[in-house]
Amino acid sequence: MKIIFNQGVANINSTQKNKERNGDMIRKYKIKWLFILLLSFMVIFPGKGYADFTYTVKSGDTLYLISKAYSVSITSIKTANNLTTDYLYVNQKLTIPTDKIIQYTVISGDTLWKISQKYNTTIDRIKTLNNLTSDYLTVGQVLIIEKDTIVSNVTYASYRTHTVKAGDNLWSIGVLYDVTISGIKTLNGLTSDYLTIGQVLKIPASIVYTLDSIVESKLIVFPFKAKTDYQAFTNSYAAARDYSTTGTVRVHEGQDIMANKGTPVYAMGAGVITNIGWNEYGGYRIMIKLDGINYSLYYAHFSKYADGMYIGKKVSAGELVGYVGDTGYGPEGTTGKFAPHLHVGIYKTSDMTTINPYPYLKKLSQ
Ligand SMILES: [Zn+2]
Repeated sequence: MKIIFNQGVANINSTQKNKERNGDMIRKYKIKWLFILLLSFMVIFPGKGYADFTYTVKSGDTLYLISKAYSVSITSIKTANNLTTDYLYVNQKLTIPTDKIIQYTVISGDTLWKISQKYNTTIDRIKTLNNLTSDYLTVGQVLIIEKDTIVSNVTYASYRTHTVKAGDNLWSIGVLYDVTISGIKTLNGLTSDYLTIGQVLKIPASIVYTLDSIVESKLIVFPFKAKTDYQAFTNSYAAARDYSTTGTVRVHEGQDIMANKGTPVYAMGAGVITNIGWNEYGGYRIMIKLDGINYSLYYAHFSKYADGMYIGKKVSAGELVGYVGDTGYGPEGTTGKFAPHLHVGIYKTSDMTTINPYPYLKKLSQ
């Protein structure tokens, strides 16, 4: 592409030299120059609107990891680079055949936030891909941008195995690798929670969570005051749940955090209580519409509420709202159907669809 561009420049120069000859010649050169410019664009952007992305291999990379990181198959990476083996070397340049990755040149007035909005990605994702340690950008800086990372809540990054040791269980392995228990069971075809020492488990790809920065800016307090108030937790969003009055298995639309009955629970953000009282599933639950955004925070299974909670009451971030319990899964007053825990949900207020609270909780717990 450079050579063609240089030809374009050479033609401008020769056009200038020939300026005095006659106007027709100049016009001819101009047209030729435009044609060459157009041609060079076609070479750089063959019918897609953007070029393939060039990736520089780092220590520890494998074709598998790269294929997962950029959502491209190993076969298409190998084909694009004429690779005959899976062997990579550090600093090797690989063409990644993707139209999700673009190279973006920072212009005056750009911020990471603006760029993330433009390409439907997150500030975190841009920083990770470009190894940025600060939010500072310079005009002319070239950034690698992965577009549309917010389409799903997750992108997959890595893969490994775990050999079961004495004392391991699915929960402890889930916490260790930050993956779901149901994900481990599905990947390994497990029908029970029983593990044997020495058993080799495939660990599902750990998940790089993308956070909605608007939600993130409102959820600022972890529901528990001290690390000793709750158990380490792993993503339990979208796991199947047994309790049902209709016989169908419900999908779990929230994050469970195991804690002792009576542990104080604090509001993650400021808002207004829009629902409070008994719910067949949630027991004593509370819904708080967060201030300034279209999201609500939901806590369930309280043993009791903090004093003075009512619909319409304003709560501040970090305000005590209730206490951990084991209420729910039946008519009012039902307890003991499960171990005490806090169920946390985040709902879009307008249509009551959910987003995964796990990454927000995880971040606040760190
Ligand atoms: Zn739950």
